[in-house]
Formats: sequence, structure tokens, C-alpha cells
Amino acid sequence: MAFGPKRWVNALARLRPDLELEPDSAIVSRWDDDPWAWGAYSANSRASPLDSEELRRPVGPLSFAGEHTAGAWHGLMEGALRSGRRAAQELLQSAGR
Ligand SMILES: Cc1cc2nc3c(=O)[nH]c(=O)nc-3n(C[C@H](O)[C@H](O)[C@H](O)COP(=O)(O)OP(=O)(O)OC[C@H]3O[C@@H](n4cnc5c(N)ncnc54)[C@H](O)[C@@H]3O)c2cc1C
Repeated sequence: MAFGPKRWVNALARLRPDLELEPDSAIVSRWDDDPWAWGAYSANSRASPLDSEELRRPVGPLSFAGEHTAGAWHGLMEGALRSGRRAAQELLQSAGR
């Protein structure tokens, strides 16, 4: 349980007491035992530039989040968080809210 979500949920509750958390549905994903992740993040270079506009462009009702869509914040937790907020905002707008 040392690597379970409880420790992180408790820390988040202390950090953001304004949030209504659902601790029983929290999960922890780790790079080293996640068969989908394999511990990677996007890299932007002259030889392989990221087309952020295209990567974050909604397709029909789908909005895309993830550090790879975050422009200057790509490759960072900050980018992941910002992209999630942006994608949520897109969904709210498309739902007329
Ligand atoms: C070794 C390492 C060190 C890092 N250090 C830092 C650091 O110090 N500071 C920092 O800011 N950032 C750091 N990062 C980068 C940071 O962790 C990432 O930018 C951030 O976690 C990306 O979040 P995300 O939500 O975009 O993607 P992820 O956290 O990768 O989440 C994507 C999720 O989608 C799931 N998934 C993928 N494919 C499928 C599928 N087909 N079906 C269902 N689920 C799927 C994956 O399992 C994963 O849970 C580091 C990354 C690595 C690998």
C-alpha cells in the first residue's frame, strides 16, 4: 500500500481542501509498470518539430489532452495539467456551457 493512491489523495486533500475528492476511485499509474506508457514524453527538435495546433485540434466531439498537446509546456506535468484544463474547457464549450 506504500505505493497506493492513499498517500497522494491525502496530500492532495491537504493542498486543495476546496476540491470534492472521490478517494475510493483514485488510481496510481507508474511508468515502470504501465504497459502503455513505457516512460516516455514528447520531444521537440528542429529535426522533429511538434505540430501542437494539429495535435490538440478536436475531431468531432473528441478533445485531446496530454503533454504532447501543450505547446511550450510539452514534456512537463505543467503541460499535462494545462492541456487537461483546455480540453475540459473545449468540451464545456461544445456542450454549450
Ligand atoms: C522518467 C520521467 C521523468 C519525468 N520527470 C518530470 C519532471 O521532473 N517534471 C515534469 O514536469 N515532468 C516530468 N516528466 C514528464 C511528465 O511525467 C509527463 O509530461 C506527464 O506525466 C504527461 O502526462 P499526460 O497526462 O500527458 O500523459 P501520461 O501521464 O503518460 O498519461 C497517459 C495515460 O494514457 C494511458 N494510455 C496510453 N495509451 C492508452 C490506450 N491505448 N488505452 C488506454 N490508456 C492508454 C497510459 O497508460 C497513461 O496512464 C517525466 C517523465 C518521465 C518519463
